[in-house]
Amino acid sequence: MSALKRLHICPQSPEVEGQFSSVLASQSWQQTALLHESINEQDVKVALAKKRLDIKDFAALISPAAEPYLMQMLAKSEQLTQQRFGNTVSLFAPLYLSNTCANECTYCGFSMSNAIKRLTLNEGQLAKEIAAIKGKGFDSILLVTGETNKVSMPYFERMIPLIKPHFSQLSMEVQPLEAEEYKTLQGIGLDAVLVYQETYRRQTYLEHHLRGNKSDFNYRLDAPDRIGQAGIHKIGLGVLLGLEDWRTDSIMMAKHLRHLQKRYWRSRFSVAFPRIRPCEGGIVPKSVISDRQLVQLIAAWRLFDADLEMSLSTRESAEFRNHAVRMGFTTMSAESKTQPGGYAEDAQQALEQFEISDERPVGEIANMIRQQGREVIWKDWDPSLSHTHS
Ligand code: SF4
Repeated sequence: MSALKRLHICPQSPEVEGQFSSVLASQSWQQTALLHESINEQDVKVALAKKRLDIKDFAALISPAAEPYLMQMLAKSEQLTQQRFGNTVSLFAPLYLSNTCANECTYCGFSMSNAIKRLTLNEGQLAKEIAAIKGKGFDSILLVTGETNKVSMPYFERMIPLIKPHFSQLSMEVQPLEAEEYKTLQGIGLDAVLVYQETYRRQTYLEHHLRGNKSDFNYRLDAPDRIGQAGIHKIGLGVLLGLEDWRTDSIMMAKHLRHLQKRYWRSRFSVAFPRIRPCEGGIVPKSVISDRQLVQLIAAWRLFDADLEMSLSTRESAEFRNHAVRMGFTTMSAESKTQPGGYAEDAQQALEQFEISDERPVGEIANMIRQQGREVIWKDWDPSLSHTHS
């Protein structure tokens, strides 16, 4: 039986006129792959000399032809980041509210068929988590859940008012919602929403999202449009590096970003760079991105968009994150627990979504950042923090 025949996929939402699903329908994956495969050294030099880069320039900078120019790219990336964001790195903590999930994603420890203990925080457990996270000094958090109807709007509407008074910045990474729902959550304190597409190649997406609502490719793809329509302050994009050819996926994401920026110019945007990590029932990456290539990708994003917020999680090793501080990042998670109740309780590892790599206490990470000449910001980066922005 083919992989696709074994899937229990839900019906696919139609493409929506004007939203990114309709744009992607006119884009060929192969043509997009050709963009970076056909790059030569001259294309790289042209991209490096430009102030405002287009998609082809971005493809040039992430191509193998740009590898000899990595130091030049990094120097420019650091300079642009300092000009735009000042000498700061913001720290945040993810708060896992629930690991219950009705989806089957091949790369995730929370997948419904994994026999792990499931937990959705109640009010009392949440209060303990908040106290533990505040005790570490954080003022910016990212709420994370699995995707299930049991942990949806009524739960969010109950919990967010309990969380918001304790933090100045509240972001969310949960199942895609309707525009009206995002608006409701914004009204009770939500500042940012992250929805990672994982991969922009539909066929590959369906091979990794075997069951549940997440297998609806278009509905997820258009979530950032709905977040923009709702007027949410910040929209976060990401692909899971390794599911597909990372260069082609990154170019697709750059197209997605430009589409959103044109339509929702009042919103800020962020990108993240998760690489596939081991988890229960984990998979082998289709395309491995090396440390050096990841550095190149990060610098290319900064050159592509000086205003973009860029975030690095504790999936990466302490050594990589030490070097990454000066590369162009604006935000980092620290001392993350990827299981519900993980900060307050000594929760079992089997509840985790993925293993973290940088396990240092937040104080140690803050010191490391300061030693590199950066100021640590405990809330999300805000334009008022920079003296140099226009
Ligand atoms: S990636 Fe998200 S939706 Fe998929 S199994 Fe994990 S928690 Fe559920």
